[in-house]
Amino acid sequence: MIAEGVKTYQNYIGGQWRDGSGKDQLEIRDPANGELVYRSTSSTPEDARAAVQAAKEAYEHSDWAENSVARARGLYKLAEALRARVDDLARLLTREGGKPLSVSRAEVIRGADAIEYYAGLARNVYGRTVNLGPNEMAILMREPVGVVAIIVPWNMALSLLTRSLAPALAAGNAVVIKPASLTPGATAEFIQMIDDLAEVPKGIVNFVVGPGSSVGAELVRHPDVDMVAFTGDTSTGKDIMRMAADTLKKVSLELGGKSPNIVFADADFDRAIRGAITGASLFHAGQVCVAGSRVLVQESIHDEFMKRVNAMAEKMRVGPGLEKGVEVGPVINEGQLNRVMDYVEIGKREADLVVGGKRLTEGELGKGFFIAPTVFDRVPVQATIAQEEIFGPVLSVLTFKDEEEAAEIANATVYGLAAAVWTNDINKALRVAKQVRSGMVWINTFGKLYPNAEMGGFKQSGIGRQYGLEGLWEYTEMKHINIQLQDPKRASRNRVPPIGE
Ligand code: NAD
Repeated sequence: MIAEGVKTYQNYIGGQWRDGSGKDQLEIRDPANGELVYRSTSSTPEDARAAVQAAKEAYEHSDWAENSVARARGLYKLAEALRARVDDLARLLTREGGKPLSVSRAEVIRGADAIEYYAGLARNVYGRTVNLGPNEMAILMREPVGVVAIIVPWNMALSLLTRSLAPALAAGNAVVIKPASLTPGATAEFIQMIDDLAEVPKGIVNFVVGPGSSVGAELVRHPDVDMVAFTGDTSTGKDIMRMAADTLKKVSLELGGKSPNIVFADADFDRAIRGAITGASLFHAGQVCVAGSRVLVQESIHDEFMKRVNAMAEKMRVGPGLEKGVEVGPVINEGQLNRVMDYVEIGKREADLVVGGKRLTEGELGKGFFIAPTVFDRVPVQATIAQEEIFGPVLSVLTFKDEEEAAEIANATVYGLAAAVWTNDINKALRVAKQVRSGMVWINTFGKLYPNAEMGGFKQSGIGRQYGLEGLWEYTEMKHINIQLQDPKRASRNRVPPIGE
């Protein structure tokens, strides 16, 4: 798998590293300076079909689905193996994706943490029994769904993969992973760790690099894929749901957001200001699904709040993620840079640009895709930059008068992924939290996610839940085994007439 100098990654199918049948290799370049980081094979739908076949055979012919001890042990070992590689994998994540090294380190550690959590649950894939009457009972057992295609975006390649992979494996499924073509490298290194595990039968985990429109779509359409676990853009999620309809497969969709960060006048001011900046995920150039990209600030503190937020945003150090002290890395590529700058132009027509709003090209920055942290003030609720996910270092600030208006504005987009409320009044915090239609609401903090607590989208931010027990049940089917006891002395007193007898 490893060529001299620059590495070349391959697909991993049926326990073997092999080249895909795509014509050209992919060249993955560092978004901070354009340097070649590694190469990767590229695939066609033919490779996707081979991976599905390998997964299906392994699922049907190994004892993986029944062997919860092997699943638990394998996942514990995988978590340890990942922890042992935090440093070099974090460097690779930063080089392929641009984010500051500290963020990449956190990503690897969180990935390991999720795997460890689901290792503990692998032996607890339980259902329940129901006593239906004197002579009848139901065993409700959970079984794996079968073959799961896991399709991942580029912004958090490893933690978004492990968040789906760990519960899918813990529940006993076989998987085909399709990473984003922009960031397959750290994932390939991680797949090698799985290959090293004696507990995981070959073919249970497969990895295919290729375009979403062909390789990804093939996985979604394939009749032998039983479920698609997709993380990515909302419009892609809609396409996936349409494509999955033909074979009526299960889908889990983790999509985009435009999360409101609601700051009341009685909040701890310093914390709320830091929360506005970190919530907007400026550290990863705003390329985070739960980013609090809309700050809703109460009118009475607006001026003072803006003074402080602007000063902080202006001071943020932008540069290559590997450089010490850098707080904001580049965006992923030129296409994303142009997309974000188009939104900045739209924003200039809709609201007041108060910080940034330009590409940074001085010195070494000119080699990469750097955008200055950008703040727009007085953004109208229906403005494009208040409605659409920009996925760049751009903060839109809106104002509100009171609690009611705050909740109304918070809910005024098609998204419902996350939100935050900053106030020292716990009653107000909980009232607003209950009114906001999103899968996650933080109170006096932003962005905290835990493997043992569910997250996911309301509205057009998705279907299904990640993390926690619900995140495990996503990857299971419930089966009802019904038992009628033969006991002539005790006739059933169940008064509900049976159907189908
Ligand atoms: P994307 O939708 O373009 O791509 C995501 C993945 O889907 C990639 O692997 C891509 O190759 C594949 N894909 C694309 N078209 C496909 C198709 N027709 N069929 C099958 N697969 C296809 O998203 P992106 O630009 O890589 O990532 C950014 C988006 O992801 C943002 O919208 C962000 O909010 C979202 N996101 C959501 C979460 C969450 O948890 N809700 C987390 C991270 C990112």
